[in-house]
Amino acid sequence: MDASSFLSRLETLLDSRGLVTAPDDMAPHLVDWRGLFRGEALAVVRPRTAQEVAAVVAACAEAGVAVVPQGGNTGLAGGAVPVGPAPQILLSLSRLNAIRKVDRVGMLMEVEAGCILQTAQEAARAAGRLLPVSLAAEGTAQVGGVISTNAGGINVLRYGMTRQLVLGLEVVLADGTLVNALRPLRKDNAGYDWKQLFIGSEGTLGLVTAAVLRLVPAPQHKVTALLAVPSPEAALALLNRVQDEVGDQVSAFELICGLSFDLLKRNCGLDLPLAPAPWLVLMQADSSLAGIADKVEEVLAGALEAEEATDGVVASSEAQARQLWALREHITEAEQREGPSVKHDVSVPIADIPAFLADAEAAVAAAHPGARANMFGHAGDGNIHFNVLIPPGTDKAALNRTVHDAVARFDGSISAEHGIGQYRAGELAHYKPAAELALMRRIKAALDPDGRLNPGKVLA
Ligand SMILES: Cc1cc2nc3c(=O)[nH]c(=O)nc-3n(C[C@H](O)[C@H](O)[C@H](O)COP(=O)(O)OP(=O)(O)OC[C@H]3O[C@@H](n4cnc5c(N)ncnc54)[C@H](O)[C@@H]3O)c2cc1C
Repeated sequence: MDASSFLSRLETLLDSRGLVTAPDDMAPHLVDWRGLFRGEALAVVRPRTAQEVAAVVAACAEAGVAVVPQGGNTGLAGGAVPVGPAPQILLSLSRLNAIRKVDRVGMLMEVEAGCILQTAQEAARAAGRLLPVSLAAEGTAQVGGVISTNAGGINVLRYGMTRQLVLGLEVVLADGTLVNALRPLRKDNAGYDWKQLFIGSEGTLGLVTAAVLRLVPAPQHKVTALLAVPSPEAALALLNRVQDEVGDQVSAFELICGLSFDLLKRNCGLDLPLAPAPWLVLMQADSSLAGIADKVEEVLAGALEAEEATDGVVASSEAQARQLWALREHITEAEQREGPSVKHDVSVPIADIPAFLADAEAAVAAAHPGARANMFGHAGDGNIHFNVLIPPGTDKAALNRTVHDAVARFDGSISAEHGIGQYRAGELAHYKPAAELALMRRIKAALDPDGRLNPGKVLA
């Protein structure tokens, strides 16, 4: 089938806004958030229902056309942008955006893939519940994209990754089969838990069209604190102390190096409410019970006495808490304004964070003179954004290897939460053990034997 008869066939499956072929209208879909990856597509297809998605995917399978699913296009691995010469369509889930149900008693919601994450969070909040996945791109990222990347964010320490929040899933398979498993069950051991394969597989195994998500009680009280700590070792001692004393009420524990704060001041005009320190910790605890703030202040006093922290400030109002979080949220922008950098989103076992940071920083300094490591991240779950500010002429591929080799020395992961997409497909092939890669290829071959779902991503 030639391209124009294929597009005519798609037209019969969609409403008048479902098929976009004008280059200007397609353009924003064909470049990623950071402007690093650009691709080409026969059309941008915008179905309204799961049945339309299924019909479009079936037509693509018949015509030998590949399908690139796209949500909010905020992914940081180039996963939602077409790559390669194969004829492909970009399938945007944006119009499947209904919140079908919020169940306050059952503490869950059923939502379509194209719903903006923030809209879903607001609907949960209106029912007195919390949808705990939260990330800086939540005003644009969509539920389907968040599920397909198994997104993390700032609350993983307490509530887990997105995977832990998905109770039921509706997906379209490579041949166009629609599988509805939107079961609102907490316990379901009846057979394989196949939905896990689709969570975090970045659109390479199927298309997510809707999900049932677990909600939690909305905490009524929270406390946010910024602490100066002498070293990453001290930060981990502090983490243990806080977890011992306030248990799983600690929802965020971010470790930030001193350089980040220099950059915030120099490039964003943001000032630290503490004297400069080599490392800082931004932590938050929340609870339904009153008294959490007093408890955390008591624990932090103990940490200061034990010299796990040298200084600290506890937010005394919601506005001050927001100011503390603004410091964390502006690090990437401050870094961008400083000049070029190479970003790594890695994880290592929590107890190895101090040794990893020292090892990787020394390796970068030795191999790439003039490079400066800007290290920050969700240390409470072992996830470090090990970004490196680079002088002109730095070999970026060699720098990636320097950092990822350090990650490998600690049995870590080269992608903690941002995924593989096209950006890290080569690195995945280099670092993933052969037996695991072979298993991944068998799963891909079983679910997408013709390689039509998001080609060139994850397994390139
Ligand atoms: C400022 C900023 C901050 C961020 N912070 C975080 C963070 O803290 N933690 C984190 O984990 N990520 C973070 N991200 C990355 C990104 O926001 C997440 O990966 C998000 O989950 C992507 O959602 P999306 O709807 O934009 O997906 P897209 O970018 O559209 O797609 C991402 C991948 O999923 C696939 N996909 C999208 N929708 C579907 C679907 N319905 N079915 C099948 N496949 C699909 C795409 O093909 C692609 O491979 C951040 C990004 C930005 C720009």
